[in-house]
Amino acid sequence: MAIKVINPADASVVGEAPDMSAAEVRAAIDRTCAAFSAWSRVLAKERGDMLRRWFELVRADRRLFAETMVRENGKCLSEALGEIDYGLGFIEWYAEEARRVYGDTIPSHAADAAVMVLKQPVGPTAAITPWNFPFMMVTRKIATALAAGCTMIIKPSEETPLTAWLLLDYARRAGIPEGVFEMVTGNPKEIGALLTGDDRIRKISFTGSTAVGKLLAAACGQGLKKMTLELGGNAPFIVFDDAHFDDAVAGLVAAKLRNSGQVCISPNRIFVQEGVHDRFVAALAAKVAAIRVDQGLQDEFVVGPLINCTGFDKVAELVDDARRQGAQVALGARPHARGGLFYEPTILTGLHDGMRLAQTEIFGPVFAIYRFKDEAEVIRRANDTEYGLVAYAYTRDLGRAWRLSQEVEAGMVILNSGSVGTASVPFGGVKHSGYGREGSYYGIEEYVEAKYVLMAGL
Ligand code: ADP
Repeated sequence: MAIKVINPADASVVGEAPDMSAAEVRAAIDRTCAAFSAWSRVLAKERGDMLRRWFELVRADRRLFAETMVRENGKCLSEALGEIDYGLGFIEWYAEEARRVYGDTIPSHAADAAVMVLKQPVGPTAAITPWNFPFMMVTRKIATALAAGCTMIIKPSEETPLTAWLLLDYARRAGIPEGVFEMVTGNPKEIGALLTGDDRIRKISFTGSTAVGKLLAAACGQGLKKMTLELGGNAPFIVFDDAHFDDAVAGLVAAKLRNSGQVCISPNRIFVQEGVHDRFVAALAAKVAAIRVDQGLQDEFVVGPLINCTGFDKVAELVDDARRQGAQVALGARPHARGGLFYEPTILTGLHDGMRLAQTEIFGPVFAIYRFKDEAEVIRRANDTEYGLVAYAYTRDLGRAWRLSQEVEAGMVILNSGSVGTASVPFGGVKHSGYGREGSYYGIEEYVEAKYVLMAGL
C-alpha cells in the first residue's frame, strides 16, 4: 500500500510514500531505541562530521529538493530554495554545536566533595512534522537531536512526505546509520499512538495544530515524556504612525504571502494606527495587486495554491463570514479565476476583534486589517488571544519598541522586520502556541538532561 502525493497546483499525482503497517512502525521504533546506546557514545566531533557531510550532499542538490517541494507543497521555487537554505542552516549549526554541549561544575557545599553537572542525551526521541515547511521542519528537529546524542524517528506530514524521504536517503549516503535516523509514514493517528505509547521514547517534538498538540501532550503525560510543541499562532503585526512606512508595507507583504499565508508565524491580525491607516491600505493594495498567482515551478515569486480543500474552504469561509459582518474588501476576497485551490490575495478592512477571522489562524493569503488609536489599546488587543507565538511591530520610537518587547505575550517579538527565523535564534511560543525552543543553544538544551553528580569522600 502507498500514500499518493498530490500537487496542490493541478491535482496531479507526483509520487508515493509508504503506508506503513503498525508492525513496520514498531520495527522502526525498535531500531531507533536499539541504536541509542551506541550513538550516544559516538564522539561529538564524529556526530558533527556526519551532519556536516549530510549538509554538503543536500546542498549540492538543492535544486532537486526545491522542485520536489514545489510539486508536493505548491510554494514557488524561490521560496523553496529559501526554505532549503534556512533548513540547511540548522544542519550546519548543529554539526558545529554538537561539540559545545558543556556541563558545569558548581562550588561544593561540602569540604570533601566535588559537584558536577553532566549533560546527557535524553534518549531515543520522535518528531511529527507538518506540510508547510517539508524540508526545514525535518532538518531542524533531526539535526538537533542527533547533535545532542539522541536518536530520532520522524513522521513527516503525509501531504508532503517526498522531501522528507529524500532527506533520509541523503542522510544514509552521508553515513547516518539506520536506527539513528528513522522515518515512518502511514496513518497519523495510529503512528502517533505508537510513538506516544512507547515508554522507551523519551521525548517528542511536534509542530502542527494546537488541537493535535494537546492530544499528543495528554498522551505523553501518561509516560511523562518531554515535549517540544510548536503550535498555532495568531500573530499581531502592528504598524504605528511613526513607522518607516515603505519598510512596514514591504515587511508585511513578505511575511504574509510566504507560503500563501500558510505559516504559523504569518501576520494574522494587522493593526494599523489611525493616522496612517488609509494610506497604508492603499499602498498595500497597490503592492499586493502587482503580485501574480500561479503554480510555483518558475523563478518569479508567485503566490501558490492552498494545500488542500480543507484549507481552501476554511479561508473562504472566514472571509465570507467577515464580509457578512461588515468587513470591506480592498482587494480579492474570492477564489482565484485559475480555479482549483488558488485563492486571491485578499485585503479586508473595517474588522473588529469579535470576528472569527480575528480569533482563528487564517492560513491563507488574507491581510486582515484592524484600526487602532494608541499604544495601550493595541497592546491589550494584541494580547487578547489564546496564542503567543510571534508579534511584529513597526515603530521608530525606541521607548515604545522596548515596552512592546516587554509587554507583548509572545515567544518572539520582531521589531521593524517581517523576517523571523534563522538557525542561531530560539524559535518557539508561549500560551497555546506551545513550549520549548528550536534553534540556537536553547534548542539543543531540549535534548539533554542535566545530571547532578556528587563526588564525596575526596
Ligand atoms: P495541519 O492542520 O497543519 O495539517 P496537524 O496538526 O493536523 O496540522 O498536522 C501536523 C502533523 O501532525 C502531521 O504530520 C499530521 O499527520 C500529524 N497528525 C495529525 N493528527 C495526528 C494525531 N492524532 N496523532 C499524531 N499525529 C497527528
